Amino acid sequence: MKKNLVFLGPPGAGKGTQAKRLAKDLGLVHISTGDILRDAVKNQTPLGKKAKEYMDRGELVPDDLIIALIEEVMPPEGGVIFDGFPRTIAQAEALDEMLDRKGLKLDAVILFDVPDEVVVERLSGRRVCPSCGAVYHIKFNPPKEDEICDRCGTKLVQREDDREEVVRNRLEVYRKQTAPLIEYYERKGILIRLDASKDIDEVYQELRKVV
Ligand code: ADP
Ligand code: ADP
Ligand code: ZN
Repeated sequence: MKKNLVFLGPPGAGKGTQAKRLAKDLGLVHISTGDILRDAVKNQTPLGKKAKEYMDRGELVPDDLIIALIEEVMPPEGGVIFDGFPRTIAQAEALDEMLDRKGLKLDAVILFDVPDEVVVERLSGRRVCPSCGAVYHIKFNPPKEDEICDRCGTKLVQREDDREEVVRNRLEVYRKQTAPLIEYYERKGILIRLDASKDIDEVYQELRKVV
């Protein structure tokens, strides 16, 4: 049966970068709540309208909206990498309940372990394509042509919430609301710690070893 994985870790730890690659190589579905929410904001859907103010402040979007969203996008047969979800104990419990109901289970929760300095450096240099969503880093993963998306030629931008004031709040929110999930999954015996401070290829090799 296909695996169901959770990628847990602070903002900027590299979850999205690794999730895209692993999903492609293992034929899994990459579910990034952040990407889905940004799309919803861009398209001004009802969800996007409700989520925008929280995202702008670097706060968490309310659990009920996130849980409804996950129910909607979850493939019935599983085979998923959850990236950036769950972020609260309530979300984790809702996920357990949903998987149970569908006869599925979580195989592993990968904790992306990185020191705060690294996170700040990664977030401050992150650039994204506003058109296709590709993610770059000005120093660690630069596009071939300066500030231009390799895939579609659009000019790259910095995410609004990657500005310094918002980043500080997001790190605080992670510590208070999301870090308790480490113990939650440790107790279930499915937490795997990954040293995510190495370069992108090295982290990927480690990830392949553990999953
Ligand atoms: P990061 O790069 O910090 O991991 P994401 O792209 O995952 O950021 O999330 C961006 C924003 O979207 C968060 O700051 C939060 O406002 C909202 N968000 C994403 N996922 C969730 C979630 N599971 N629960 C609540 N809010 C979320
Ligand atoms: P997250 O999804 O956890 O918020 P991202 O995958 O968006 O993190 O990565 C954050 C930034 O750091 C991006 O600019 C990305 O290109 C860069 N990055 C990701 N992994 C690494 C790594 N192992 N080393 C250096 N930079 C990285
Ligand atoms: Zn692009």
